[in-house]
Amino acid sequence: MAIKYIPEPFRIKSVEPLCMLTREERESRLIEAKYNLFGLKGEDCAIDLLTDSGTGAMSTGQWAGIMRGDEAYAGAASYEKLIDTARDLFGYDYIQPVHQGRAAEKVLFPLLLSAGKLALSNMFFDTTRAHVELAGARCIDCVVEAARHPAERARFKGNMDVPRLEQLLREHGGRVGLIVMTITNNSAGGQPVSMQNLREVAALARQYGIPVCIDAARYAENAYFIQRDEAEYKDVPIPRIVREMFSHADLFTMSAKKDAIVNMGGLLGVRDGASDLIQGIRTACISYEGFYTYGGLSGRDMEALAVGLREGIDESYLRYRIGQMEYLGGLLDDAGIAYQSPVGGHGIFVDAAALLPHIPYTEYPGQVLAIELYREAGIRSCDIGSYMLGNDPDTGKQLQASFEFTRLAIPRRVYTQAHLDVVAEALSEIKQRAHRITRGYRITWEPPILRHFQSSLEPIAA
Ligand SMILES: *Cc1c(COP(=O)(O)O)cnc(C)c1O
Repeated sequence: MAIKYIPEPFRIKSVEPLCMLTREERESRLIEAKYNLFGLKGEDCAIDLLTDSGTGAMSTGQWAGIMRGDEAYAGAASYEKLIDTARDLFGYDYIQPVHQGRAAEKVLFPLLLSAGKLALSNMFFDTTRAHVELAGARCIDCVVEAARHPAERARFKGNMDVPRLEQLLREHGGRVGLIVMTITNNSAGGQPVSMQNLREVAALARQYGIPVCIDAARYAENAYFIQRDEAEYKDVPIPRIVREMFSHADLFTMSAKKDAIVNMGGLLGVRDGASDLIQGIRTACISYEGFYTYGGLSGRDMEALAVGLREGIDESYLRYRIGQMEYLGGLLDDAGIAYQSPVGGHGIFVDAAALLPHIPYTEYPGQVLAIELYREAGIRSCDIGSYMLGNDPDTGKQLQASFEFTRLAIPRRVYTQAHLDVVAEALSEIKQRAHRITRGYRITWEPPILRHFQSSLEPIAA
């Protein structure tokens, strides 16, 4: 059942040529990269779906902003413009620019978490988990059961499991330092979180006196899903939905490299301007990021971000954006390839465990499929599974992830319908020969944290 492709609501003014290596060349690039796709050169990837982070195409309005950037060290006009825009969109009193999402986590989390504390989330993104652990605390993921069943086409599979959250709060209330709501839920497949879920989590958190932080990288895509799928919001404009989502939290950290369509940038927000946290944030920011009126960003970056924050919530853009995911999802349905369904906001999460059922999690099926995609057609993707999850920080044992996904993250405003066709064709080819891929990979070297970015692998001999 083919899904109609929604035409790009823009035209293309500047282009970058792509290169296509031969199969032999790709094979040697894989060996050189020690089978870690983060080790490949961008120019060696024909279609680069490694991430949607910082890989979007900026608009003429954003490029014009780059030229207008005010580079004053303190109190730049570009800072004021960014702060005014973010305050208006999110309704928070205090906005701190930082250089990217993990910088916001690094600045904020040690102010709330320490050894012995717990942080609960619908699902932690990898860097978010790392910063909780670096602060000495531990993470518990609490996503709804439906998220664990990729074939089940449920709505709002990114939601927090509220009864489970309540049980955890009853058991560990005093130890819980923070609740993180990741919208959309990246690790569960870019799956959205409903307004009702945000509301319920906020009510529980208030009851236990625990702050809620929105991990807001995909605030715009999440708002679009709420408007589309949550009946009472179908006539509510996206900006009002965004405001209401943020009203159900006390804090937010944001990687602006996603929905705000900039190549670099992040934000940290505090709803209550009288919060004691603000002074701590400013002090930490000055040490780690830069003075609090630029936080690691150039004036021009802040200018482009102020424009991107609004472009990201344009309805015709969002319809096209989510439409791309649906189009690619439709092609995979036709080919009988399973993925986290319905499609999420920023990519397709192919169910590698379903495609390669004979490869155990200890041999990383998500990584196996990602390597095959590069081999097949020069498409770069990444594992979102046990390979990414890594080892238990206390026992050092390999953790088993809830899913074994290969993520095809779609950069914003970058690839066209024909590129998506190529991706679907490559996956179909791999499906035909999947039974001949008999073994996975072993890790020959890994760092203690965030290993998937740096580790070395080798194929396990059949
Ligand atoms: C990307 C991302 C982050 C980290 O942001 P960076 O800009 O990569 O540092 C945190 N949380 C989520 C949900 C993300 O997608």
